[in-house]
Amino acid sequence: MMDKMVPPALECRNIGRTFMIKRGMFAAKQPLTAVQEINLKINRGDVLAIVGESGCGKTTLAKMLLGLLPPTTGEILLDGETIHSISIKEIATKVQPVFQDPYSSLNPRKTIEQIISLPLIVHKIGTQEERRERVEKYMRLVGLPKRLVHSYPNQLSGGQRQRVAIARALIIEPKIIVCDEPTSALDVSVQAHILNLLQDLRKELDLTYAFISHDLAVVEHLADWVAVMYLGRLIEFGKAADIFSNPQHPYTRALLNSVLTPDPSLGLPEITLGKSLPNPLSPPSGCYFHPRCPDATDDCHQTVPALKDTGERLVECHLYQ
Ligand code: SF4
Repeated sequence: MMDKMVPPALECRNIGRTFMIKRGMFAAKQPLTAVQEINLKINRGDVLAIVGESGCGKTTLAKMLLGLLPPTTGEILLDGETIHSISIKEIATKVQPVFQDPYSSLNPRKTIEQIISLPLIVHKIGTQEERRERVEKYMRLVGLPKRLVHSYPNQLSGGQRQRVAIARALIIEPKIIVCDEPTSALDVSVQAHILNLLQDLRKELDLTYAFISHDLAVVEHLADWVAVMYLGRLIEFGKAADIFSNPQHPYTRALLNSVLTPDPSLGLPEITLGKSLPNPLSPPSGCYFHPRCPDATDDCHQTVPALKDTGERLVECHLYQ
């Protein structure tokens, strides 16, 4: 049980993000609401999985959690302090990302030592010797052999490259890691190794994770809490064990029943819901999920359901009591 006086490691208070986008050279700009009215808390040491199809707003949310994109509404708090009052450089000492593609996120012209030590150089931490020692320590922690220290990314396997990206994220000793689809570019056999590594590091370094994924199966053994997003909205939230054993929202059930492809941009197979994700520029009336929902009633076409809170479960559906 957490001490009530300890603030959450990370908190979103009613955050939203709208982009003004153009569809064609002479077209007027239109608002696209990528994220709306999201309230979430992650306590220290917990793993919160944020799941949903490509286009549901989870990557926009990840960028906001990292301080890379300001919300248009609401606020984000780090250890109880609003992120707007903290410089980007200071946020980076507390929150670090691990992105999807280890192939494009590593500079091909830098050695592994140069890549992993870069955050130390940017933040002016340690002497050259101390930095070298710290690189070796974190290479050891993520399971990279010391002999790779002078290698280049193209000499490494996909799994090894993702270990480099993880070591680079950890080296300035942040307490929160935002993992954005960290295994979806990897072979299935390698995915399990990376997930196990993240689990071990979490215990060893007392880390807190926000884990973004399009695939509930990937987060099943890692997450303590699950937030399901649909067209920018939070539509179900609860303890991971409860979500997996007893999903309440029809969309969460569809996600659990679907066999997803490794490519998150392909979304849910149409066989699951019969229709593809609606255009976020003109979202449906009423419940955003109604065109794809097998349980939709007339009311669902007209009225946006309230997010019902039963203590440890939040569900945005008219049928949920
Ligand atoms: Fe389906 Fe209606 Fe619930 Fe939306 S509110 S998820 S359309 S039953």
